[in-house]
Amino acid sequence: MPATILDGNKIAAEIRAEAAEAVKNMSATGLRPGLAVVLVGNNPASEIYVRGKVKSCEEVGIYSEKHTPSQSVTTEELLTLVADLNRRNEIDGILVQLPLPPQVDSKKILLAVDPAKDVDGFHPTNVGFLSTQRPGLVPCTPAGIMEILQRSGVKLAGQEAAVIGRSDIVGKPMAMLLLNANATVTVCHSKTRDLPGVCRRADILVAAIGRAGMVTRDFVKPGATVIDVGMNRVTDPGEFARLFAGNAKREETFKSKGSVLVGDVHPEVAAIAGAITPVPGGVGPLTIAMLMSNTVKAAKMRRGNFTAAAD
Ligand code: NDP
Repeated sequence: MPATILDGNKIAAEIRAEAAEAVKNMSATGLRPGLAVVLVGNNPASEIYVRGKVKSCEEVGIYSEKHTPSQSVTTEELLTLVADLNRRNEIDGILVQLPLPPQVDSKKILLAVDPAKDVDGFHPTNVGFLSTQRPGLVPCTPAGIMEILQRSGVKLAGQEAAVIGRSDIVGKPMAMLLLNANATVTVCHSKTRDLPGVCRRADILVAAIGRAGMVTRDFVKPGATVIDVGMNRVTDPGEFARLFAGNAKREETFKSKGSVLVGDVHPEVAAIAGAITPVPGGVGPLTIAMLMSNTVKAAKMRRGNFTAAAD
């Protein structure tokens, strides 16, 4: 039986609607959540991401502002901007779009963001809160994956989970969230021995690698839930054929655009997994939806006159 497709667009729309409702209620009491986005230079990919984030704020009703320092900005100048945003009460969330130019000390900038406004969840204080199960702000992509799993009714407690990838942005927080949900978690990386064998034990497999279609069917236990975080653009015809030979729709896209977007999971996995997230339309839409929900959560936690945090 083919895998159930876990529809990220649908779940993201639910989360955005919930955030919009919360924003409406908060705004009625004069507390409109606000997000400041810092976009340095003119990296085309970053510009697209930031445009999506600002547009989503408009839809949900969150106040947003964009700061666009030039590519030649110094660490000190950025620190001054972050300090100013930290001070302003109407700003609940600060997002510094990565990557920053090489002359900027990125770690210093991320450390300067007030943890209470750190809607990306990258500050060591929030990393510590997550690992000690205290309320805090959780990185958007893994938080979104938890929403997909929980809202789709995937059982987590007592299940074997494997996460491929150990980045601070996806792999590590993902592993921590699954552990907090009582799964038995194995974190895999480029030095893991017998990666397919380790992954085959998993009831829940999360692939956050950045390698097109690396996870083939020999990585997957039949019936497992597979979450594909990867976003890879394939332009090589040979690589395209390895992934999509015989797929008329994708062949058409490849012909007309010269590239296709592919996850870390090979399409053949859909034949044996129990449930799977598609690319596009799986994890991707959740990342921005969780940014909205994190901004609402930050506003509630920081401005204090709302009793329950959004989790
Ligand atoms: P990183 O490059 O920071 O981390 C990749 C991880 O994969 C590393 O831990 C690395 O291991 C591991 N890895 C690389 N090659 C192998 C291999 N051959 N076998 C086993 N493990 C391997 O990437 P990110 O975590 O930032 O992102 C991962 C993917 O998710 C990317 O495709 C990215 O585009 C996508 N992404 C998607 C988002 C979305 O919204 N959908 C958001 C964020 C990311 P090691 O540590 O040993 O080097």
